[in-house]
Amino acid sequence: MDFDLAIVGAGIVGLAHAWHASRAGLRVVVLERDGYAVGASIRNFGHICTTAQDDIALEYALRARQEWLTLAREAGIPVRAEGTVVVARRAEELAVLEQFAAARGADQVTMLDPAGASDRLGFTPPGLLGAAHLPLDLRVDSPTAVPALAAHLAALGVDVRFGVNVTGVESGLVHTTRGEVRAERVIVAVGHDVDRFFPDLAAEHGVTRCRLRMLEADAPRGVDVAPGVLTGLSLLRYDGFARTAAAAELRAAIAADAPELVARGVNLMFTQRLPHSEAAGRLVLGDTHHYEDTESPFEDEESDQLLLEEFRRLLGADELRVRRRWRGVYASSPQGPYLVADPLPGVTAVSVTSGIGMTTALGLAASVLP
Ligand SMILES: Cc1cc2nc3c(=O)[nH]c(=O)nc-3n(C[C@H](O)[C@H](O)[C@H](O)COP(=O)(O)OP(=O)(O)OC[C@H]3O[C@@H](n4cnc5c(N)ncnc54)[C@H](O)[C@@H]3O)c2cc1C
Repeated sequence: MDFDLAIVGAGIVGLAHAWHASRAGLRVVVLERDGYAVGASIRNFGHICTTAQDDIALEYALRARQEWLTLAREAGIPVRAEGTVVVARRAEELAVLEQFAAARGADQVTMLDPAGASDRLGFTPPGLLGAAHLPLDLRVDSPTAVPALAAHLAALGVDVRFGVNVTGVESGLVHTTRGEVRAERVIVAVGHDVDRFFPDLAAEHGVTRCRLRMLEADAPRGVDVAPGVLTGLSLLRYDGFARTAAAAELRAAIAADAPELVARGVNLMFTQRLPHSEAAGRLVLGDTHHYEDTESPFEDEESDQLLLEEFRRLLGADELRVRRRWRGVYASSPQGPYLVADPLPGVTAVSVTSGIGMTTALGLAASVLP
């Protein structure tokens, strides 16, 4: 065998497995079809949303958090640790946050009054009633952090190969457009494209594609927002919040007065690009969610306008100057946030089937690789 482990895909999930395997002393090769990773892992907010997870995802997220901090020290990947501020502008949102804070305790959640929230945010959202600060959450700049992790792995001795399309996988053997690779174990970490390799497995796990719309805009008034920012719509998306008793009332309130946001699956949240980013200081704004097995190529201008209107309201800004727009796609399943299965002896498919791969992959990989 040429390698102990071959990994297909150099997104965060593939690289997370390479990171743990290389530290365990395994001979590892990573095979990525593109010239550099351009998938979900560089299209996201870079929000390491630890605290809002629940159950096994929270376990993975807490482990992953430690790994990100280790990578910051060892690989020099910039990681910001100002946490997240969850803004409440409805009484129902405040109720969810209060229940969440009571359940998690002061290490994980601090309630803020409007003045305290404005201080942490660096701006005052109109209609602000209060907020929660989640100090454990982190932020990275995905478009630079993911390539930096790949480069760090290469420096540690991992054979990272770009421009190598994997065309098939067998036990102990990987077929690629650049020849065959032999490895004791194979991990297929291709995100939503898991159905291209293992259609039956993907169907059994209910895997579909979730398409999201993202925008990047200049920060209005040059505002400097250190934490990641979530809103009431986020409280319906992340299990930690959505499983509070108060979430049902919030869901009903939003469905009644903002049905267009529900219909487009809007999760109003943003992060600010870190200083070393090529887009330093801009706000990464998102997002909408559309679920489909085959990705529609069409973007709906009304979704962008709706997002921008909501962000103008949140930021109290008359105008937002959009600089870039893109779409992201991730694997999604109603059955749970992870697909981990061995379709063949020595071959493991690993997909994060919820929008939490940046937050949890570095913890998930430690459990997949004993
Ligand atoms: C818009 C958006 C915002 C998000 N925001 C967040 C966030 O803030 N926080 C968070 O925790 N999560 C977030 N997520 C989710 C997170 O980005 C994903 O869960 C995660 O990136 C999935 O990682 P991955 O490695 O499985 O997929 P990908 O990054 O898509 O990587 C899969 C890789 O496999 C490669 N590949 C596919 N087929 C082959 C083949 N045949 N041969 C070789 N290589 C192949 C692809 O080229 C790709 O590079 C977001 C996702 C999106 C889309």
